Amino acid sequence: MSLPRRSLLLAGLVAACQLPPAEPGLTQADALALSPGWRAQLLAATPVYQNPSAAAALQALAPGALLLDDPRPQLWALPDGTIGVARGLIRLADTEEALLMALAHGAAHIRLEHVARANTPATNALAVLTTGYPAALEAEAEIEAIADLRTRGFDAARAAGLQRILAALDGSASCLYLDRAEAARRHARYGTTATLPPRAASAAFLTLKRLFPTPRAIQSGIRGD
Ligand SMILES: [Zn+2]
Repeated sequence: MSLPRRSLLLAGLVAACQLPPAEPGLTQADALALSPGWRAQLLAATPVYQNPSAAAALQALAPGALLLDDPRPQLWALPDGTIGVARGLIRLADTEEALLMALAHGAAHIRLEHVARANTPATNALAVLTTGYPAALEAEAEIEAIADLRTRGFDAARAAGLQRILAALDGSASCLYLDRAEAARRHARYGTTATLPPRAASAAFLTLKRLFPTPRAIQSGIRGD
């Protein structure tokens, strides 16, 4: 090998060594250890909504869940089991099934260890937790949530309104809404006709809807009447 070629090769090798190494994805143990810090950061951005009856009603539907003072239809689910639900999401959940589906979806991400399975690097974790996982993992969480609801006697077809509302608003991506195409796929998975009998709304859900009613204009726009 001639000298100039060798020095070129050496220079290339030195340059390659100076590139920052690819950040490794978090393991489940890493994700669990980092969860308290993520929770602190998320709550610094959107604090807990201070309303004892709303908090108690949410506890009745999802023990341990935090009600967030956030007008967006947001939900995050940390690997350590903490779920944060924005008041903006409760406002748009037009049926109890829609809210339960959102909560079950978050719980599925936790149970299926999606932060680790998505190979999420630490620097990207908060973005993934708040704007959504790769579509395949979102689908997996959704299928798990549909089955979870059914086991508890709720029909996912009655949850479809929320996806239609989110698609009509076409807001920013979240764990519950990536884009219109994903909303349509989720809606299709829920089914269009409920096969389980309807259930009366729980006192907890009615309390939440008194505090955060779904605007009539949104409801009628979605139903098309
Ligand atoms: Zn999700």
